[in-house]
Amino acid sequence: MRIGVLTSGGDAPGMNAAIRAAVRQADALGHEAWGIRQGFQGVLEKDWAPMPTRACANILQRGGTVLHTARCPEFLEIHRRADAAANLREAGIQALVIIGGDGSFRGAEALQREQGILCAGIPGTIDNDLPGTDRTLGFDTALNTAVEAIDRIRDTASAHGRLFLVEVMGRSSGMLAVHTALACGAEAVLYPESPDDSYQALVARLHANWLRGKRSSIVVVAEGDDLGNAMVVGARLRRDYGLDLRVVVLGHIQRGGSPSALDRIWGSRWGAEAVRRLAAGEGGFYLGEVAGALAVQPLARILDPRPAPPGDMGELVDILSR
Ligand code: ADP
Repeated sequence: MRIGVLTSGGDAPGMNAAIRAAVRQADALGHEAWGIRQGFQGVLEKDWAPMPTRACANILQRGGTVLHTARCPEFLEIHRRADAAANLREAGIQALVIIGGDGSFRGAEALQREQGILCAGIPGTIDNDLPGTDRTLGFDTALNTAVEAIDRIRDTASAHGRLFLVEVMGRSSGMLAVHTALACGAEAVLYPESPDDSYQALVARLHANWLRGKRSSIVVVAEGDDLGNAMVVGARLRRDYGLDLRVVVLGHIQRGGSPSALDRIWGSRWGAEAVRRLAAGEGGFYLGEVAGALAVQPLARILDPRPAPPGDMGELVDILSR
């Protein structure tokens, strides 16, 4: 069987581990893996080539994706997905391993349902916001990167007795923000799913800490928080209270870097499992981790509501900040 492997949407550390595992497991089973560059765009442009096992040498420990990734708005159109399926059939590619996030899985679901191309999804996004899995590739690495950065900011915040607002990625998910905040001992966290995300609550919390004698504070802000991003919240606090605060946007440094051991391990397990199932004729699923075990979900499950950060974690950030 000829199995195509692609990475789509936002890149995430650990994608290369999944690519390597898919290619080498295919080879071990006597199948042929093809690397497709630039995600779904590459399928439309036939930007692909056979990927020998040796092409995966020394990629396990690298961030990003050797297959490159792209956003492909054309793939939202049913007739372009039909074109994609025709291209795949012409090249003899019967199955796809699609490593990406929510949008990529929606594309995979449509391609499988409408065109009968066997599709397997591997969760790859630093947001960790997919239903049916406790983990996505890149989250653990991004979390550790954010924690390390904030530890450095904490040193200077303490030295100057200053308030820092630190923005982490998460346009619609507070998963990274809440985990980062708890791991850094942040004084507060603002994130989209928060039940108590008012400006007044934030000000009250910072004021209470000030009265307790705390002179420096770190507030972690998810970029998609309802109050606005860190720049917006910072400007408002400056205007209303004249605070000498600093805003740090961690930005894309959270996306890069060598994947953590966990992201490498899960990338390897998922890459191999996806190929084993496709080779057995199974498609229309994505892989995940549930309570520590490898889980298999139907692709249609991507339409379920996204998971929110556990509520008790946000509360714990508040309780432990005193
Ligand atoms: P991610 O996979 O990281 O969530 P995007 O949301 O950008 O990233 O999705 C990646 C690509 O998946 C899009 O550029 C598009 O080609 C495809 N895609 C997204 N949503 C859909 C959809 N509803 N139907 C078909 N294809 C989609």
